[in-house]
This record gives sequence, structure tokens and C-alpha cells, in this order.
Amino acid sequence: MAKKKKNRPTWDEYFLKLAMLASERATCPRMHVGCVLVKNKFVLATGYNGSLPGQPHCDDVGCLIVNNHCVRTNHAEINALVQATTHGVNINGTNAYITNMSCTNCAKALIAAGIKRVVVFSDYHETLATQFYIDAGVEIAKLNMPQKEIHYDLKNYSSAKKTKKSR
Ligand SMILES: [Zn+2]
Ligand SMILES: [Zn+2]
Repeated sequence: MAKKKKNRPTWDEYFLKLAMLASERATCPRMHVGCVLVKNKFVLATGYNGSLPGQPHCDDVGCLIVNNHCVRTNHAEINALVQATTHGVNINGTNAYITNMSCTNCAKALIAAGIKRVVVFSDYHETLATQFYIDAGVEIAKLNMPQKEIHYDLKNYSSAKKTKKSR
């Protein structure tokens, strides 16, 4: 049997890594979350928690706290849904890859939009999301956090070296 290549992620790990990458765009210092909506290994939409378009970011003007939660941003799941909506993409039947388990409201929005499976590696505090997902028949997969590193080696994995030599 062929040996599994070191550093080659599974599909679930691959899309979770994309969610981790999306979270790098988050603008609230209290929380960095990324969400990627995937159907048949095809990325339909991505999102991260951030302010409304044109509005100031928590990183620049501070958080807007109500009941100990920052309410300035739309959450990653909502922003992924909004991206799909604004592009006319139907996300019914998709997998949602999220860095953190959803909050209750995002879980309800994803369920209403027809997602079938949620893949996460981290929990969210005080949330009924898991119960809502279970009640709606949405499969929950909790994985270990994939390796953070991007294993791209310019010298070995591109023709750059060769090109340089052949000059
Ligand atoms: Zn904030
Ligand atoms: Zn949320």
C-alpha cells in the first residue's frame, strides 16, 4: 500500500485550513473565525467575522459590546451565506467548514439555508448550536486542528530553481 504523503491534508483538513486562512481576515480582536461552504469538493463561498461593508473595524475603533458580546461584526457563517446570496449561489446541501462551533444564531441561519454537515475543530462558548444541528439532522464532525503551516517550498515545488539554473 502506498504510504500517505507527509503534509498532504485530507479533504476535511484541506477545507478546514481554508477556513483558518479566511479567519486571518477577521477584524474583531475578541474572535477570529473563518467559514467555508463546500459542495462536492467545490468551494461556493467563504466568510470571516467582520464589520459591515464601509463600516469601521473593531481593530480600529474598538469593539461594540452588548451583554458581553461584540455585536459590531457579522459572523463568518453569516458573511459566507451573504456572499453566496449576493452571487446567486444555492448552498442547499453544502458542508460548512468552520474554525469554531457556531453561535446559536449562525447555526439557525445555516440550517435554514440547507447545510447538511458541519466540520469544526474548536468550540464556541455558551451555544445551543449543537442541539439545533442535531435536531435538524445536520451531521457534526469535530476534527483535531489541522497543521497550521502551509507547506509550500518554492525551491522544491516549482520550476523556479530550474529556470534560474537554465539561464
Ligand atoms: Zn469586536
Ligand atoms: Zn455566529
